Amino acid sequence: MVTLLNENYHVCTGCALLCDDIEVVTGSGRITEVKTACRKGVARMKGCSEPMSPTVDGQEVDIDNAIGAAAGILSNARSPLVFGLGNSTNMAQKKAIELAKRIGAVIDDTSSFCQGPTLEAIFNENIRSTTLDDVRNKADVIVYWGADASNSHPRHFSKYSYFPRGQERQRGWEEDRIMITIDIRRSHTAKISGDKFYQIPLQADAEFIDALIDALSGKVPKVSFGFDIKRILELANILKKARFGTIFVGLGLVYSIDNMDPVVKLMDKLNEMSNFHLIPMVGHYNMRGFNQNLFNETGYLNRVKFEKGDSTDVQHGAEFSIVETLNNKAADAALVIGSDPLSSLPRVIAEHLLNIPVITIDPCETFTSRKAKVTIPSALSGVECGGSAIRMDGVEVKFEPIIETNRPPDEEILTRIMEAL
Ligand code: SF4
Repeated sequence: MVTLLNENYHVCTGCALLCDDIEVVTGSGRITEVKTACRKGVARMKGCSEPMSPTVDGQEVDIDNAIGAAAGILSNARSPLVFGLGNSTNMAQKKAIELAKRIGAVIDDTSSFCQGPTLEAIFNENIRSTTLDDVRNKADVIVYWGADASNSHPRHFSKYSYFPRGQERQRGWEEDRIMITIDIRRSHTAKISGDKFYQIPLQADAEFIDALIDALSGKVPKVSFGFDIKRILELANILKKARFGTIFVGLGLVYSIDNMDPVVKLMDKLNEMSNFHLIPMVGHYNMRGFNQNLFNETGYLNRVKFEKGDSTDVQHGAEFSIVETLNNKAADAALVIGSDPLSSLPRVIAEHLLNIPVITIDPCETFTSRKAKVTIPSALSGVECGGSAIRMDGVEVKFEPIIETNRPPDEEILTRIMEAL
């Protein structure tokens, strides 16, 4: 399904909700005011506080020289790593996959250590998903599990899940919807859920799921931690009666379980008696797009290694995750696109990046770009260049540039690097 651009409004690329009702005021080549967006969206759309310049070895150069230096590094590398792309358009991601094939690179993204397992279960149809539009129109029971949407995706409740009047939910949150939060702490999201907040201990999600499945099966649930069994029975009762239920899965749940088996089991049980769906709370605006594009190309959504010069020969596995690639010191060069692994990964893992030539393509200066051998500034997608992206629920959203820039989009930079190889 494609959400076509409404030319009166803009799309915010601040997170994977891709809100498409944004109004802006521009002046002197900048966005000066952003209406409708949340605080994260306003910050994204107003642009970088520290824009990046083209550099080689810390010296400012023109962009052609930076692109030439990047091509030289990648041509000479025996085992390059391509990483990031969650903040790039679909076309840029496809181009990066093409480049990775050409140079025989490992390619991976942040889903490798966040929502990868959830998306894999959806892509392989082990879990039923739905669209946010259907949630808005139909959902009567909404569960945030290990997710604090109030801070990660601030307009989630108002645009889609809890507060809107939907076609089949005309009486809205006051009477027509129940919002549940399951988490280890009383987050801002949990506070909105009121007495439908179920607080569980750290790492207890799998045990809680088992207890919930027992309750759904008519058995007496058991948990090793002190939790009122009556509340688990009450929760099971609400879920059972849902006419259209959706679980929004956050990293709190993903990080607490070894694999998706408990969640698949719970979804199967719920769908024996009601109608339940799951949507991952994807963070970066087009992480799901990267996963979908790589999946379409290779059958895998991340952790892929291409063989140089043989595009049909693909390897996949944990050893090709960024974490293991850096841990094993298996990469001799890295191309980082729209990501900041030196900030987001533990130092002990990321420090290999300090010992190899790194190229960063990014609109803004980051910790990784400050340590990179080559930096190439790119246009800020959704603001300075257009394209399309895949929303957290799998819907494609198109967007147009709002202001002009002389910085090229990621896609163009990657094309020029390929031409210069
Ligand atoms: S919720 Fe996400 S997409 Fe919507 S305005 Fe906020 S940052 Fe932008």
